[in-house]
Amino acid sequence: MRRELGIARCGLACCLCSENAECGGCHSDSCPGITQCENRRCSAEKGLSHCFACEKDCKKGLLSKIKPYAFTLFVKRYGMDRLLDCLEENEGRGVVYHREGIVGDYDDFDDAEQLIAFIKTGKR
Ligand code: SF4
Ligand code: SF4
Repeated sequence: MRRELGIARCGLACCLCSENAECGGCHSDSCPGITQCENRRCSAEKGLSHCFACEKDCKKGLLSKIKPYAFTLFVKRYGMDRLLDCLEENEGRGVVYHREGIVGDYDDFDDAEQLIAFIKTGKR
């Protein structure tokens, strides 16, 4: 885990992303999706560092996907340090963020509350 890369504007975990050997993370401007990222554009226009700093319950862009949406909700409730602590602990338990391509153990959920419970415990 490259904890220093933190969480992307949209809620994806740059710190655990399989692209992070080449990509310096969302805030480095080297994300491959930078030109078309709706969350980047919108949060920057609002002067926000991340979508979790926004008051809206929003499903725009990557927030239409369960993982960044639930990670964003988690940070709104508990803070970014707690999310990074949980992700680090879960990595130690064998939870894999990107197992095949960009899909891993945090993607296999339909319900944000169930995914938030999994983030906290690493157990289903
Ligand atoms: S590809 Fe996107 S999610 Fe992955 S490290 Fe780069 S900015 Fe973060
Ligand atoms: S409106 Fe949506 S995309 Fe824009 S900053 Fe807020 S949460 Fe992010």
